[in-house]
Amino acid sequence: MKKDEKKLTTNFGKPVENDQNTVTAGSYGPALIQDIHLLEKLAHFDRERIPERVVHAKGAGAHGYFEVTADVTKYTKAKFLNKIGKRTDVFVRFSTVGGERGSADAERDPRGFAVKFYTEDGNYDMVGNNTPVFFIRDPLKFPDFIHTQKRNPATNLKDADMFWDFLSLTPESIHQVTILFSDRGTPRTYRHMNGYSSHTFKWYNDKGDYFWVQYHFKTEQGIQNLTLQESTKLKGENPDHATRDLHQAIEQDEYPSWKVEVQIITPAQAKDYRFDPFDITKVWFHADFPPITIGRMVLNRNPNNYFAEVEQAAFSPANFVPGIAASPDKLLQGRLFSYHDTHRHRLGPNYHLIPINQPKGAKMVNYQRDGFMRTDDNSGGAPNYYPNSFGGPEPQPDAGEPAFEVSGMADRHPYIHPNDDFFQAGELYRRVMTDEDRDHLIGNITSHLCNAQKRIQLRQTAIFYKADPEYGGRVAKGLGLDVKEVERLAKMSQDERAKATAK
Ligand code: NDP
Repeated sequence: MKKDEKKLTTNFGKPVENDQNTVTAGSYGPALIQDIHLLEKLAHFDRERIPERVVHAKGAGAHGYFEVTADVTKYTKAKFLNKIGKRTDVFVRFSTVGGERGSADAERDPRGFAVKFYTEDGNYDMVGNNTPVFFIRDPLKFPDFIHTQKRNPATNLKDADMFWDFLSLTPESIHQVTILFSDRGTPRTYRHMNGYSSHTFKWYNDKGDYFWVQYHFKTEQGIQNLTLQESTKLKGENPDHATRDLHQAIEQDEYPSWKVEVQIITPAQAKDYRFDPFDITKVWFHADFPPITIGRMVLNRNPNNYFAEVEQAAFSPANFVPGIAASPDKLLQGRLFSYHDTHRHRLGPNYHLIPINQPKGAKMVNYQRDGFMRTDDNSGGAPNYYPNSFGGPEPQPDAGEPAFEVSGMADRHPYIHPNDDFFQAGELYRRVMTDEDRDHLIGNITSHLCNAQKRIQLRQTAIFYKADPEYGGRVAKGLGLDVKEVERLAKMSQDERAKATAK
């Protein structure tokens, strides 16, 4: 600590003479409003909490770097990826999704996996999860979905009816539900899980050719998960276990790392693929498009201050750099708006000036001015309009995404192939899971779904049955449901099933 940092002051630098005794009229007298230091201290304390994130409220973060290990210049002109051995600083935040800021780290929930790359062309954010897919694929459903993961508006309790009612009426969720209720829904720590972009993104090179890409961050600590019993115990005994684990590992110089892989497909391959390559409820099978290793990410520095660096960190999937752009994935298109918007609400319109969110390798120069908490020099006397003839910043045409064609009838289009929704979840159950994984999956589901009304249990179990009859049959047995009734419901259309199980 520097010498002048040892002197206590008010927020405006006035030396404070006493920090233990309020100014009062006599020893027993009332406090005087002229005790400016007391007023300032209480007023600031009253405003310490900012709105918590509406999702991903509980999290932990760390600094580190990303290093390129393969030549990908034929796919993308992104500068931070243009040379083997090149390192870029990153800040990463892991989180749970549905719980409040004080909730337990061991909750069954997807885990957020957000990476901010501080590149020379500005910040690039990869705002992913520890799952390669998601529950829904249309942003119009997002607020409803999140409501069902949070508290019942009447009781303020988590509610199994809300949770399963929505999911069973939204069958495209089955793939993500199967992953969530496997032991991967309760990762042992943030270090022992993978991260996935889940969405498809566009990479384009300096010739203007483009490719579709998905990212996979594979943990080098190995995948480790908690069983239902372990997570239940941890939630009570050590609710911050994953936050503590990340901090301690880095303190002890055990730096967690991830191998970074991408799956890349051409526009022609995307057109012919058996699944919609932009449907976030699906993966691209590894056998069809083997992942390529392109880099490695290491986390090697803890934040100095949690609020400044983790709570105020603001990630957005709309933070692209030249060489990387959005795909037509509808959920991604909704997120392109929603993340910046929620940060403006939570942190204010100038949240990009908070040090953790500022670009490091590039300078922010534009014509935006003013607003709450404008903490820089607000561009001084430089022109605040464009075009101008006073030497203000100029657009850089090279930085743009190559033009691309779009066509089609504007309408609220439903998804075209709803029958595909069950196959990949079935493949996970049949082909990928071990006997032990399947046993745990059934136990994890039945211990949660048993709390919902029977008609909702039947509807959801029919969805499991559609993914795989054995899967649905085992859940039915675990819940004491009639398998024949589940089979009958599984054969109905979605609308018929919803009618047959309505209240
Ligand atoms: P593979 O059969 O080639 O490999 C299986 C994949 O499943 C591995 O990536 C493995 O991850 C992952 N996995 C293992 N157990 C679980 C689990 N309980 N929950 C979620 N993922 C798990 O994969 P395919 O490409 O042929 O896809 C088959 C199924 O695997 C998919 O339907 C999907 O459910 C799942 N999967 C596929 C991914 C993809 O991008 N293709 C990514 C992740 C899962 P790891 O190697 O890290 O242990």
